[in-house]
Amino acid sequence: MTNYSVKISNRAKHVSLKITPTDGLVVVVPKGFNHSLLDDLVARRQGWIEKTLQRYKDYPVQEQDTTLPNEICLPALGEKWCVSFIKTSASTVRVTATENFQLRIIGYTENITACRKALRRWLMRHARQNLIPLLDLASDDCALPYRKATVRGQRTRWGSCSSTASINLNYQLMFVSPEMMNYVLVHELCHTAHLNHSRHFYNLLASYISDYKIIESQLKQAWHSMPGWLQPL
Ligand SMILES: [Zn+2]
Repeated sequence: MTNYSVKISNRAKHVSLKITPTDGLVVVVPKGFNHSLLDDLVARRQGWIEKTLQRYKDYPVQEQDTTLPNEICLPALGEKWCVSFIKTSASTVRVTATENFQLRIIGYTENITACRKALRRWLMRHARQNLIPLLDLASDDCALPYRKATVRGQRTRWGSCSSTASINLNYQLMFVSPEMMNYVLVHELCHTAHLNHSRHFYNLLASYISDYKIIESQLKQAWHSMPGWLQPL
């Protein structure tokens, strides 16, 4: 049987299995759960575990290059930014953007962590300014209204939609292709009509994006192509 580690969660209501490239198989259990049941539980999910672990073998985690970029490509927006570093005596780092796609990182530029954080803050703002208007366009096109939109930096989701039609988008969507980005917008908008992944949901989704299955599988792999410097600190 596959080795696993156990994580006790105060919030979990039932047992769930999680596989990540770095931690392998993790079993998340609610507080007070009887651990002697876990071996059985894991054995029953062996098929899924093997399949998922194999997928990680096929797509090994790249050695993460966390050096700062000289260029930032945002395919979803069709933008390419040139990055330059300007060292000053300031103790902090800030990012300014010019109209001709120049990003300047100004301040204590020797502090790589501070530079990465400043870049992430800028990207988050940039995503808010650009992804939400695109969501509005998609919403009009599909005639699927939503209530509220936010942009965040979740680690495992490209987007989500709540029962109150609040849509949340991942800022990293700027790094995927326009087709993939549009797929996520339409997927979340379809959840305003069906809050599940039922046949009705996919029928609706297919009425807007007929080749959604191909794009969906591309998106699963797209996590692996996010730049290393973008990874959480
Ligand atoms: Zn969904």
